[in-house]
Amino acid sequence: MSESVSAVAYLVASVCFIMALRGLSSPTSARMGNIYAITGMVIAVITTLALPGVVSFGTIIIGVLIGGAIGTVIARRIEMTALPQLVAAFHSLVGLAAVFVAAAAFYAPEAYGIGVSGEIPGGSLVEMSIGVAIGAITFTGSIIAFGKLQGIITGKPMVFTGQHLLNLVLGIVLVLLVVWFVAAQSAFIFWLIVLLALLLGVLIIVPIGGADMPVVISMLNSYSGWAAAGIGFTLANPLLIVVGALVGSSGAILSYIMCKGMNRSFFNVILGGFGGEAAGPSSDIQGDRTVKQGAADDAAFIMGQADSVIIIPGYGMAVAQAQHALREMVDLLKARDVKVRYAIHPVAGRMPGHMNVLLAEASVPYDEVLELDEINRDFAMTDVAFVIGANDITNPAAKTDKASPIYGMPVLNVEEAGTVLFVKRSLASGYAGVDNELFYRDNTMMLFGDAKKMCEGIVKALEVGGH
Ligand code: NDP
Repeated sequence: MSESVSAVAYLVASVCFIMALRGLSSPTSARMGNIYAITGMVIAVITTLALPGVVSFGTIIIGVLIGGAIGTVIARRIEMTALPQLVAAFHSLVGLAAVFVAAAAFYAPEAYGIGVSGEIPGGSLVEMSIGVAIGAITFTGSIIAFGKLQGIITGKPMVFTGQHLLNLVLGIVLVLLVVWFVAAQSAFIFWLIVLLALLLGVLIIVPIGGADMPVVISMLNSYSGWAAAGIGFTLANPLLIVVGALVGSSGAILSYIMCKGMNRSFFNVILGGFGGEAAGPSSDIQGDRTVKQGAADDAAFIMGQADSVIIIPGYGMAVAQAQHALREMVDLLKARDVKVRYAIHPVAGRMPGHMNVLLAEASVPYDEVLELDEINRDFAMTDVAFVIGANDITNPAAKTDKASPIYGMPVLNVEEAGTVLFVKRSLASGYAGVDNELFYRDNTMMLFGDAKKMCEGIVKALEVGGH
């Protein structure tokens, strides 16, 4: 393929990726966005394989077969609730790939058209060393994020005195090593950069608590994009530079939006130490306080009599896969002229957009699904808030308790509704490990049980109740 043809093909692929991002910004156009992304990727892969630099296909085909097989098995088996850790695992591979590409370019510069060993131009060395450093940080950082989300290592922040100073010193040493590497072109310094960056990746992520993981994942996503863009410069591949920059900047923008959603600064998140409070009700909440308990019949009666109901789905709905039963319940309520809407918190569940995906799967109409800003004022005028498998995103401690690790995060004002129904299995805390005093309020009724079973029970009761 001639250079001009491949340049045009790369341009078309880049436009497809931009259109994909645009499409993914709304649930109604997300499917189209994915189609653009697939088209862009097919064009990109075919164009790259047709480049004159590709001289043999044997290894490439074996790689595609092995990688494709692993990817297909994982994609078919993965639970929706485990997607964040899967994304973290994938980011780690992008980071590792950046390290390998940089190492290959360093040892065989002729193959990349960047001079010969020992005489690589300064510009290429800078790209290479920055790419390898970001790649290595992304690799170990993503592994730690994976471990935290998978529960292999504690989700609590691991903090020690002098941590930030240590990270700062290591960061400065890393920059000095890059300068030294560019001047000396030494393999020893190259691997020293790799080692130090691997260590820094671990140290940056360990102090960050579980509740901040969404931001961390999106930040690592951004890093993996920049690492890819770095490789793009090394390989002189414009598409990789464009795509890397797209991933890098969209990840950074998403991190910023999430920080805004939690009312925290980006540096506050990165500097860590958040979201590691003790799990389970603390003594002042436990005390002698009792909760009002109800059954499916009670919930059916209360909601059946209501004029308006807002549903607040959370992580527990995803675990129980309750979205279809929930939709059935809502259909019966609507048949009784109850106005029903869904309130979606930006970090409900375990990944951005988690609840939207599940509700779309159950064919819930998009116009019934509202974001926090759109619906938060309406709770005060609503009869029933039906909280299904959600916890942290309703916790008023975020508004009132300055000592709480979730202080400042905007929450859904469910307590302003006439009655609050909480569907969950126990009084246990949510992901951030923070008690929720709403369970003990007078206008709250706890519906203990699995979210799906509870919805099915309510459906039965509504059907028996008839019109
Ligand atoms: P939470 O983790 O706060 O609460 C979920 C609740 O669901 C739990 O308290 C649990 O209570 C209940 N639950 C679990 N399984 C079931 C089940 N089978 N049936 C019924 N209930 C069940 O979730 P939220 O969605 O309210 O908040 C999200 C949290 O996750 C936030 O802290 C956020 O920062 C964090 N996070 C968000 C990410 C994102 O991108 N959205 C990514 C990573 C973390 P019980 O055990 O009593 O049943």
